[in-house]
Amino acid sequence: VSHYLQNIQTKAHLNAFVEVYEQSSLEKAKQIDEKIALGKAGKLAGMVIGIKDVLCYEGHESNASSAILKGYEAQFTSTAVQRLIQEDAIIIGRLNCDEFGMGSSNENSVHGKVLNAQDESRVPGGSSGGSAVAVQANLCTASLGTDTGGSVRQPAAFTGVIGMKPTYSRISRWGLIAYASSFDTIGIFSKSVKDNALIMEVIAGHDEFDSTSSRKPIFPYSQLLHFEKKAKVAYLKETIESPALQPEIKEQTLKVLDQLREEGHEVEEVSFPLLDYILPTYYILTTAEASSNLSRFDGVKYGYRSPNAHNLESMYKLTRTEGFGEEVKRRIMLGTFVLSASYYDAYFTKAQKVRRLIKEYTENLLQDFDYILLPTTPSTAFKFGEHSDDPVAMYLEDLFTVQASVSGVPAISIPNGKDKNGMPIGLQVIANSFKEAELYAFSNYLT
Ligand code: GLN
Repeated sequence: VSHYLQNIQTKAHLNAFVEVYEQSSLEKAKQIDEKIALGKAGKLAGMVIGIKDVLCYEGHESNASSAILKGYEAQFTSTAVQRLIQEDAIIIGRLNCDEFGMGSSNENSVHGKVLNAQDESRVPGGSSGGSAVAVQANLCTASLGTDTGGSVRQPAAFTGVIGMKPTYSRISRWGLIAYASSFDTIGIFSKSVKDNALIMEVIAGHDEFDSTSSRKPIFPYSQLLHFEKKAKVAYLKETIESPALQPEIKEQTLKVLDQLREEGHEVEEVSFPLLDYILPTYYILTTAEASSNLSRFDGVKYGYRSPNAHNLESMYKLTRTEGFGEEVKRRIMLGTFVLSASYYDAYFTKAQKVRRLIKEYTENLLQDFDYILLPTTPSTAFKFGEHSDDPVAMYLEDLFTVQASVSGVPAISIPNGKDKNGMPIGLQVIANSFKEAELYAFSNYLT
């Protein structure tokens, strides 16, 4: 803990942590040392973990990086965090992110931007930018983030660490401040596959407080990392041939595929004709869900209330106008538009149907193949400000991550070399629903 506290202090300018639980972490470390001496320590004893600012932790502030939640103190602890604590992990602090998880660069945060430790003029990715940089810069052993459309995998790729998004419903969402409830998934950042798998086996599994959490059995993932079979791997022609793809990322991805062939695995190119429809589907459905989820922030129940209001209506209006950032407002407007009576069928219903097609296509492909391999992102970490005036360019950053989110299947990003500027490249591996054990084992083989 002292080692990490020291690092957090010397690297404070990266702005990864928004709050450090210094005193309680040191005390907890002492207690755990005693438990270790008695042979009674939990599975995660020795792990020091940071949590994204959208996860509730009783008695601590949670802001979702938004001014509207300023001063809001969590009344209960999210299930994922509770399970970490039960197994003696130490929660060292709260990590910066894009407001309500909306963004791909961590530039939309009331706490300010997070710097990529590899090159401080570049973004760390988003929305879980703080969680990624905390692991990248050795500020903690591992961290929790959330992934709605790529927010764990994309920042993991940009910072050269491992980022895992499990199957939708694999980890309870209780205590996670919602963005788009049918997509939101808690995910894990770490430097090794083994650490990642160990944390997964602790936090995954059914939870009585989240009726959508799966009852399917969980496995001791960290003990199932040995991979010896011959894999059937598909790669998507349209992703490799995408004009948006940075040439070095294409090269590195093809290299892995060649290597797999050489090692006797079956590697096949398949066509993914729906690629062009994934982003519009994702942004229609997530903004719709966000507009509904964010209606609860009205100045009455949580955090900020405008001091300039003179009656009830102006209190709602001013609180929301002053409390939400620009990107969040854009999404609330988009969401209410696609849900409005005259446009509901044209946008929302249509997008639900396309979601179903994408999901079926992906699941069918995963009946024939064990894994789908594709780049995590079209480019490596870009410079601050490069996309901030162009929301569509920013949304395009999610081109390769949203397929797994729309389909609900698990996906992981692992480091796959660097570009000419020394920026990390990510390789994404997708498996069928609830195949986390297989995904970890194959990732372990690849790293
Ligand atoms: N960048 C995507 C978005 O802004 C993904 C965010 C996320 O996964 N939370 O919606």
